[in-house]
Parts: sequence; structure tokens; C-alpha cells
Amino acid sequence: MPVDTFRHKGLRKRLCAELREKGITNEAVLAAMEKIPRHFFLESSFDVIAYEDRALPILCDQTISQPYTVAFQTQLLNVKPGDKIMEIGTGSGYQTSVLCELKAQVFSIERHKGLFDKAKKHLAELGYTAKTFFGDGYKGLPAYGPFDKVIVTCGAPEVPTAIVEQMKVGGIMVIPLGSEVQEMKLLTKISQTELVAETFDTFRFVPMLEKRKF
Ligand code: SAH
Repeated sequence: MPVDTFRHKGLRKRLCAELREKGITNEAVLAAMEKIPRHFFLESSFDVIAYEDRALPILCDQTISQPYTVAFQTQLLNVKPGDKIMEIGTGSGYQTSVLCELKAQVFSIERHKGLFDKAKKHLAELGYTAKTFFGDGYKGLPAYGPFDKVIVTCGAPEVPTAIVEQMKVGGIMVIPLGSEVQEMKLLTKISQTELVAETFDTFRFVPMLEKRKF
């Protein structure tokens, strides 16, 4: 396991101050991000750069989301202890750990086997008990729903209907919607058949793709 030094802790504190300046106000989210060693989820060559506010490469041509994006999505999700949350796109597992730190019950899906294995290992090493699944997020987790909240961390060309079905009425989904660039949407399921959408800033995510990949 990597070491979490005073230097790392100092860099995290500075990163969180930067996130605050960029408009993140949720103190619980900031505290979680100040606590979690993001560099544990990255290759050792990114040891220090891990605390710059930028996306970085992980395995399988994917990226760990930029800290600002993680903070923004988590803030929109308004996580409460005990919330049952489905995450689509485990990737490195970093966003997953932020949700766990906020005491949510997390069910996270990843389509790349290599990433799934690594994220599972890193989360366990840090003592987080998220349930991780190697699968296709378009299908969701019908056996585990319904969920209070859903967070999608890849760019979705459209809202996956199976996922909406697995949300509770009154539940919310934070999803970057679009192909080349994505608009961050906060969707609220107001009845079995209706969603209400709020639109936020534009982001750039790796695409949400179908089918699992070994
Ligand atoms: N939250 C992650 C983001 C990783 S990037 C982090 O901060 O590390 C998005 C991830 O979504 C990638 O790992 C990609 O493989 C995954 N992904 C894309 N389409 C998917 C799908 N249909 N089901 C599950 N995961 C998917």
C-alpha cells in the first residue's frame, strides 16, 4: 500500500481550498475529499500530481475524474448517511470512496475487468465496503434496486431507461448527458413515468459504452 505522508495531506488541504474557491460549498464533501488519499487510486508516478485539480489517466484508456468534477457531482447528489446509491463507472474507485466516506450504501458498476479488479482492491485496502460489480451500467442492478440516488461518471448519450426504472419515486440521478461534451443534469423522478431535469455546467467525460470488456 502507498504511504500517506504529511506532504500528501498538505497538498489535499490546498486542493480543497481550491475547490472551495471554485464554488464547492458542501462542507461534508470537502471534508471527505480532504481525508481520502486520492494518490492511492493512481499509479505511483502520479504520487504528487494526484492533488492537482485535473483528470489523470488510469488503466484501459480511462480517466479518474477531475477533483472539481467529483466534488460538483457529489454536491449535486446531496448525499445523506444511509442513502442507497448506484454509481455507473467505478473507474479508479475514487468517487466511490467519497460516497462511502459520506456514509452512503454504494453499489458501483464498471465495464472494464482490469479497472473493476483494481478499484475493488483499493477500496478494500482503505476499508470502504462498497459493493462493486463487473457489468454493464446500461442494465443497472435490477436485483439490488430500487435506489435513492444514481450517479453516472461517464458521458451518457441518453438517459438509460433501465436505470430510471431502478430509481425510487422521489429519487435523483446526476448524469453528464451528451456525446462530445456533456451537460450535467440533475434528474428527479417525480412519478413512475416522469422525470424533471435541471441543467448545470458543461463537462467532458469518457463515453458510456455498452457491454462488459475483459
Ligand atoms: N468515477 C471514476 C470515473 C472513471 S471514468 C473515477 O473518478 O475514477 C468513467 C468510467 O466509466 C470508466 O472506467 C469506464 O470504463 C466506465 N464505463 C463506461 N461505460 C460504462 C458502462 N456502460 N457500465 C459501467 N461502466 C462504464
